[in-house]
Amino acid sequence: MSALFNRVALIGIGLIGSSIAHAARRGGLAGEIVGTARSKETRETALRLGVVDRIADTAAQAVEGADLVILCIPVGAIGIVMEEIAPSLSKGTIVSDVGSVKGAVIAQALPHLPDGVELVPAHPIAGTEKSGPESGFAELFDGRWCILTPLPQSDLDAVARTRAFWEGLGSHVDVMDAAHHDRVLAVTSHVPHLIAYSIVGTASDLETVTQSEVVKYSASGFRDFTRIAASDPTMWRDVFLTNKEATLEVLGRVTEDLFALQRAIRWGDGDALFEHFSRTRAIRQGIVDAGQDTADADFGRGKGEKPLAGE
Ligand code: NAP
Repeated sequence: MSALFNRVALIGIGLIGSSIAHAARRGGLAGEIVGTARSKETRETALRLGVVDRIADTAAQAVEGADLVILCIPVGAIGIVMEEIAPSLSKGTIVSDVGSVKGAVIAQALPHLPDGVELVPAHPIAGTEKSGPESGFAELFDGRWCILTPLPQSDLDAVARTRAFWEGLGSHVDVMDAAHHDRVLAVTSHVPHLIAYSIVGTASDLETVTQSEVVKYSASGFRDFTRIAASDPTMWRDVFLTNKEATLEVLGRVTEDLFALQRAIRWGDGDALFEHFSRTRAIRQGIVDAGQDTADADFGRGKGEKPLAGE
C-alpha cells in the first residue's frame, strides 16, 4: 500500500509532534517524516531517539517538498512560523496544525497562506501533561477524537486526505466550524484546566494546611487535579489568551453554579447536593461507556500506563 503523503513535515517535535511521528510510522502514512524544533537541543534529542527520518535546522527548510505540513507548536507561535514557512510551501501542500484553539490559529495563519496551499486545521483531543520529544508514543491518538475545522472555502479533497491521515493515526474524526470548536473545548477542556490550576494554587497557599499534608493526603481528590495542573505553562497560557471569550463565558456559568452549591451547603439543602452529584456521576458513566476513559478507580494509570486523555 502506498503512503498517503510523500513527505510529512512536523514543525515542533514535542508531545504531539513526536506522537504523530510514531503513529504515522506505525501506519505507514508517510514516505518520509521530516521534523524541526525551535531549539537545537530538541532537534538533537529527536534525532538521537530516531523520532523522525530527518531533522531540518529551520522550519522553512523542513517544509521544502512536503505535501503535508503540521504545525505542532503553541497556538501563540502560529503566525510567526507561518510567515517564516510561507515562501517555501509548494502548491498543493496541505498545512495543518494541532492547536487547542482553532479560531486563533485560522486568524494567524490565513494572512500568510500562499495561493494553491490548503489550510486544514486539526485538534486531536488526546494528550498527557508531559512535554518534549521523549514524551510521545504511537498509541496516543488510538480511539480518541480529532476535530477538523476546515474553512468554508477549503478544498474537499484536502479535507478528505487530512481526515484519512488522522484516521490512520488511530483517531475518530469529526468536522465542525472553528467557533463551535472553541466553545465546546472551553467547556470540556479549557475551563477544567483553569479550575485545576486554580485549586492546586489555592491548596498550596492555604496557611492552615501545611505543604507536607497537601502532598501526604493528596490521594483524596487533589492528586487528580495536580496531574492536569502540571500541564505545559506555555501551551496553556496561549490557550487562555487566544480563547478568551468562550473561556470567560463558560467561567461565568461555572461561577454561578459554584455559588448555587455554596448556597446549598450553607442552607443544609442535602436534596440539592444529592441531585447535583447524581447528575455528575451519570456524566462520568457516560464517558466510560463511550470508551473515553476506563472505569478503574485509578483511571487505569496504576500499572504505569499513560493517562488516556489530557489536553
Ligand atoms: P510541547 O511538548 O511543549 O512541544 C512544543 C514544540 O513546539 C517543541 O518542539 C518546541 O520547540 C516548539 N515550539 C515552542 N515554541 C515555539 C515557537 N515560538 N516557535 C517555534 N516552535 C516552537 O507541546 P505539545 O504538548 O506537543 O503541544 C503542541 C501543540 O499541541 C499546542 O498547540 C497545543 O495546544 C496542542 N495540543 C496539546 C495537547 C497536550 O495535551 N499537550 C493536546 C492536543 C493539542 P522546543 O522544544 O525547541 O522549544
